[in-house]
Amino acid sequence: MRIILLGPPGAGKGTQAKTLAIRLNMPHISTGDILRQNVSKATDLGKKAKDYMDKGLLVPDELVTEMVGSRIDQPDAKKGFILDGYPRNISQAESLDSLLKARNITIDKVFDLSASEAVIVQRLSGRLACSGCNANYHIKNMPPKKAMICDNCGSKLYQRADDKEETIKKRLEVYKKESAALIKYYSAQKNLQEICADKDAEIVLNEMVGFVSGR
Ligand code: ADP
Ligand code: AMP
Repeated sequence: MRIILLGPPGAGKGTQAKTLAIRLNMPHISTGDILRQNVSKATDLGKKAKDYMDKGLLVPDELVTEMVGSRIDQPDAKKGFILDGYPRNISQAESLDSLLKARNITIDKVFDLSASEAVIVQRLSGRLACSGCNANYHIKNMPPKKAMICDNCGSKLYQRADDKEETIKKRLEVYKKESAALIKYYSAQKNLQEICADKDAEIVLNEMVGFVSGR
């Protein structure tokens, strides 16, 4: 099973993908997480990506597509994967189709997670990320048991640099500019499912599991 999660920043893609990945026993591939790891290790890719990410802009398509290509070739992704944060525009969707075609595989389901702007801003402004294992928390909605410490691995939690007001605005602007065409692209492929992600995380997850299992 191969799944794509679309939706604005803050819709809950990462949160849902992590749980869905455990349920379906397949890797969660988040381009944002991979890029942030590269930035923190100051790799060549990280150095090239950092400026774009700090400004809330998209990292150039070719860098991200190459990264996704090598990630889906890893042994753990052979039987399936959940893509979170990629593709983000038509050019990336077309590149992904080429990557899939070359490997003789297809996407089974595309979920488009929607949330109101007020919910998005509330979620992003309180989001906390783990510096060790990429787990996701929210200062009010999903607080860790111990303040600023990850329940899973005990590492420190931090607020993402791009979750400040100005950058959130820019990221939403970029999303609005690119998303309509992307949704049209996948709705033409007939495997798109819209999901209202304003609700409780468990309700959203159950809805997605229902669609995946054909319930
Ligand atoms: P995305 O990956 O789409 O940018 P995240 O999964 O990181 O979004 O979620 C953004 C923030 O909202 C996180 O702090 C997360 O804990 C919180 N969150 C995610 N889903 C929900 C939900 N259904 N209800 C309340 N808060 C949520
Ligand atoms: P995310 O973790 O999905 O919110 O992504 C954080 C940032 O990483 C984005 O604002 C972009 O700068 C960059 N990024 C993540 N995925 C992509 C992508 N598919 N294409 C271009 N840039 C990306």
